[in-house]
Amino acid sequence: MTATPPLLDVRGVTVTYGSRTAPGHTALHGIDLAVAEHETVCVLGPSGSGKSTLLRAVAGLTEVGAGTVLLAGRDQAGVPAHRRGVGLMFQDHQLFPQRDVGGNIAFGLRMHKIPRQETERRVAELLDLVGLPGAQRRAVGSLSGGEQQRVALARSLAPRPRLLMLDEPLGQLDRDLRDRLVVELRQLFRDLGTTVLAVTHDQAEAFALADRVVIMRDGRIAQTGSPVEVWRRPADAFVARFLGFRNVTEADVTDGGAATPWGTVPVPPGTPDGRHRLLIRPSGVRVGVGGPEEGPRAVVRARTFRGDHVLLLLECVGGGARGELEAACPLRSAPGEGAAVGVGFDAAEVVVLPG
Ligand code: ADP
Repeated sequence: MTATPPLLDVRGVTVTYGSRTAPGHTALHGIDLAVAEHETVCVLGPSGSGKSTLLRAVAGLTEVGAGTVLLAGRDQAGVPAHRRGVGLMFQDHQLFPQRDVGGNIAFGLRMHKIPRQETERRVAELLDLVGLPGAQRRAVGSLSGGEQQRVALARSLAPRPRLLMLDEPLGQLDRDLRDRLVVELRQLFRDLGTTVLAVTHDQAEAFALADRVVIMRDGRIAQTGSPVEVWRRPADAFVARFLGFRNVTEADVTDGGAATPWGTVPVPPGTPDGRHRLLIRPSGVRVGVGGPEEGPRAVVRARTFRGDHVLLLLECVGGGARGELEAACPLRSAPGEGAAVGVGFDAAEVVVLPG
């Protein structure tokens, strides 16, 4: 029995910008990435890490220097972009202003010579799907940003691409609208069984949309895993910091305790003695007003309201502790700015980072 190949299989892909005679910057270094049918994979990473280059290489818009891009098991070398059967939606979704909504969505279908009746049926169906039923004759200029985004999405879905690629799909929209659209998109891709490769620099978007996230750094994959896996166990200090964790440090561990700048921190049972890189989640930093006289002490420098908790930025000031530390506190017990607090740690929220 032969296993079904992944829909997209990127093997050892390297992309170098510049001419053959004057090779320049290598934007991708031997990337390996497979995307299964019906899977949504989000590529996440700082600006310049190679996310767009990866999309463009898969789409056939950028020349691949080494390695192979396979779609449904077939090598795409020499296959032009418009014959790859992939849909693309870029950040600046550039609808055609002189065409109405229906004309925009039908654009790709005309290129594929789909008969008129079938085109009209599909346009209507897609408008229903993206929540704009009956909008065929509306002028593009009369649409809000969110509505334009939906039309752009319908346009990229119209030719029924086997792989849909999104580059910062919700980049231009307000947070509130993004949060709503991301939930709708996920549902839509599920219902349609679309395979999606999306690129974003927005963590919240990636984590909400993806079955699997890929975190890139300097043209290489730093980590890949489910959103929960990546969130629970960042592969290294770069990923941890990229995800917004600040309490990352190197420390010597002896007998279950790590000597950190913030004082002695308990580590998970079984952690071997020696030098390690540690992440202490904000939820693993306990603060108490008053508290024991010994042990780390800190002053609350800033508080950020995070919906169901308050994030505190602490400055350690005594008891063998120094430097800044982030702590998550329940709303009701969060101390105010300037308060002096005692600090404790919860070993269950301390992660020993590999490498
Ligand atoms: P991201 O999408 O993660 O922001 P890009 O893939 O756009 O990253 O860029 C990766 C690297 O390649 C960056 O250093 C960028 O400056 C460089 N780069 C991108 N496009 C070109 C190009 N057309 N010519 C030369 N360098 C480029």
